[in-house]
Amino acid sequence: MAKKYDYLIVGTGLFGAVCADLLKAQGRTIMMIDKRDHIGGNVYTESVKGINVHKYGAHIFHTNNKRVWDYVNSFVEFNRYTNSPVANYKGRLYNLPFNMNTFYQMWGVKTPAEAQAKIEEQKAQYHIDEPRNLEEQAISLIGKDIYEALIKGYTQKQWGRACTDLPAFIIKRLPLRFTFDNNYFNDRYQGIPEGGYTALIEKMIEGCDVRLGVDYLSDRESYDAMADRVIYTGEIDRFFSYQYGHLQYRTVSFETELLEGVANYQGNAVVNYTEAEVPYTRIIEHKHFEFGTQPDTVISREYSKEWQPGDEPYYPVNDDKNSALYAQYKELADQQTKVIFGGRLAEYKYYDMDKVIMSAIEMVEKM
Ligand code: UDP
Repeated sequence: MAKKYDYLIVGTGLFGAVCADLLKAQGRTIMMIDKRDHIGGNVYTESVKGINVHKYGAHIFHTNNKRVWDYVNSFVEFNRYTNSPVANYKGRLYNLPFNMNTFYQMWGVKTPAEAQAKIEEQKAQYHIDEPRNLEEQAISLIGKDIYEALIKGYTQKQWGRACTDLPAFIIKRLPLRFTFDNNYFNDRYQGIPEGGYTALIEKMIEGCDVRLGVDYLSDRESYDAMADRVIYTGEIDRFFSYQYGHLQYRTVSFETELLEGVANYQGNAVVNYTEAEVPYTRIIEHKHFEFGTQPDTVISREYSKEWQPGDEPYYPVNDDKNSALYAQYKELADQQTKVIFGGRLAEYKYYDMDKVIMSAIEMVEKM
């Protein structure tokens, strides 16, 4: 293959697509390749009966960064979707995140003072000064009843271990509010790209050459020869042939079903099943991300699994062991002169979408 491009971008996910857009604007020529037979990485959405199905898990865009918000909106319009998951515990429904609606549903309390008093009363029985694990953290934040109904089983399923064996910080991601506000995020901007994420990625990479279903690492020499520089967004350990061993991930498996003739299955995009006895963690009903009015619906049950080599990598496990292993690979990556590493898999980082965009913007600016 003759040298032809300024950049070869390996991976057509969000990080690669942002790089492509920005480099294109500088007049660079770009070839993008992807192992999968479609663009978009894990934000890829696929239309099924007119419904944009989030094939690799639900993606809800939220950010406090106006620059990032304006940037994504310059490609496609974002709708007014606000994530307000509902929790189903033993057949009863509760609003999330933990707010006045949840407290009313749990205890019948109607004012913030009543809710606070209830939480204090429950906490007092445990005498927790310094929470040592997720269980203690949760009880000291919202009391025993909510911990047992809405946190304990869900967290155990999601992480495959007991709440007493998990770090306290995990639960701090969730907002706790004494207002009647079911918005899951505190960020200023939130929404879903109209037409799905694939439409967003398509716009970003417009004008770039793209080859799908090809594996960079299976023929690295010829791909490297195609461009002056390479932006690699795949797994960093795979790039280096796992020479120090495998980095671990949490993985999710999806059981997706088209329900023909069912226009509205659960009335919400996200319903969490918080009891341990239900094997899945949540059910996503994709049409509600875009206020769909189709006669049919598509749902996905999510099962959280321990990752095995060969499984789809989703969430990096940022524990000490894996962080140390990543640091070894990072050292090798820093010695590469032609290849630049970026994105969730190449940086082994649990990035929210807005953060991955900002990181790509900064990387291109630095280059
Ligand atoms: N969580 C919970 N019950 C719920 C939703 C979340 O206990 O109904 C806990 C759980 O421990 C989870 C953490 O809150 O790992 C963070 O949830 P979030 O939805 O932010 O997790 P993500 O899927 O984004 O990693």
